Amino acid sequence: MADARSAYEALCQHWRRLGVLGSVGSVLGWDQQCMLPAAGAAHRAEQGALIAELRHAWRSDPRVGEWLAICEDSELVADPLSVAATDLRGIRRSHQRAVRVREDLVVALSRATSEAFETWKVARAAKDFARFAPALERVLDLVREQADQLGWEGERYDALLDGFEPGMRTAEVEQVFAQLAQALSALHGRLGDEALGALPPGPYPLEAQAAFGREVSTAFGFDYAAGRLDPTIHPFCSRLGPGDVRLTTRYDEADPIEALDSTLHEAGHGLYEQGLPGDRYGLPSGSAVGLGIHESQSRLWQNHVGRSRGCCRWLLPRLRAAFPGRLDQLDAEALYRHLNSRRPERIRVDADETSYDLHVILRFELERELLDGGLAVRDLPAAWNQRFEQLTGLAVRDDAEGVLQDVHWSHGMVGYFPTYTLGNCYAAQFMTVARHDLGDLDAAFERGDFAPLLAWLRAKVHAHGQRHLSPALCREITGSELDPAHLIAHLEARYLG
Ligand code: ZN
Repeated sequence: MADARSAYEALCQHWRRLGVLGSVGSVLGWDQQCMLPAAGAAHRAEQGALIAELRHAWRSDPRVGEWLAICEDSELVADPLSVAATDLRGIRRSHQRAVRVREDLVVALSRATSEAFETWKVARAAKDFARFAPALERVLDLVREQADQLGWEGERYDALLDGFEPGMRTAEVEQVFAQLAQALSALHGRLGDEALGALPPGPYPLEAQAAFGREVSTAFGFDYAAGRLDPTIHPFCSRLGPGDVRLTTRYDEADPIEALDSTLHEAGHGLYEQGLPGDRYGLPSGSAVGLGIHESQSRLWQNHVGRSRGCCRWLLPRLRAAFPGRLDQLDAEALYRHLNSRRPERIRVDADETSYDLHVILRFELERELLDGGLAVRDLPAAWNQRFEQLTGLAVRDDAEGVLQDVHWSHGMVGYFPTYTLGNCYAAQFMTVARHDLGDLDAAFERGDFAPLLAWLRAKVHAHGQRHLSPALCREITGSELDPAHLIAHLEARYLG
């Protein structure tokens, strides 16, 4: 046991240093997206590639395998839910994934995706998929090889999905998505073409929008003594270390709701990061469990809290005070309708809650076909346009608002898209239980009382780190498997009620 203890300590020290190295990469990444002058992009790519290479070497270090073997054969894993057992399981998973992928492939992927990202930007600006196609083909070849080196049992896609949402299987996602797609199409049949309740025209000054976003996210519980909010083009949230969680958002002078919406989404991610055990930073017991659960936290605060009737009543006087004289005619019900109007869009991030998941379901289908070779890259725009119109009734006018709209594939992130919709499903399922446990949440939101919900999420989700993988965490919190019925019920109540 003495041996196991010292092996565990050596392992944790190594892994914490890996966490610090990763956080250096996160600082560079945040800077790249918020501050970096265009001429610095090439050198930043060099820095990123070096950190990726070092992280891979540290994760696959043979000593990690030796330490793990000693610990896994000891009392440390007697209680599978203990902090040590959680750390050992998480490190084993990460080490195994790193060892299986050859270093030359890691480097090749890093180079190919840097190049593909630059090509994607040009192609999207030109609305011309053909320019991006060769880069995407190269990335897909490498991603396919990555999946095969990682190994898989069900289908190739499982190896990639598991990197973003550990423990989730493609077959389960397929089943959940099929149910959801059917229900969404039935729901759309019952919805009218509701007109947008537009807000009075702007301008809404950007400084006032930023202050308002800070005010609302602070009320939700985000701690700005340990975080920041900055403008960017594609909003994201990044934890640079304990005590430093960065939110980003984008502003539109004509519409204060867009920035608020994205700020609350990212604040939901930030609340999760701030709720993780800070003293376990870098270790699995102090890290988020997967991107689906991460997304459940952002969707929960953005949609279930921020767009609720109670929250709209609380928001209205604050919104009026933030933009004096502009919104005096607006009432809480109109604000609620505005936030929840039916708005099918060709661009995923602009779509309303009833259409958003259709974008994701389509990406999931196409990714699997691309990966197994059933769909050729050159046929991708036609496949996207045809199926998108079938799903939403909207004709895609060019590649920029179609298959080129999202950056993920240029980064080699295949298997990532499903986590958006899994997040929506988890959020709705968690809220069903939270409402049961906490009583009338709408009344609490109307009073600006968000603390009970945050405390509930801290205890049920955040404090666990990676103690349970996503499917097990869902069972632990809700007593059942992931079930899209909760999301469907939420959407019916909101859009038909
Ligand atoms: Zn998100």
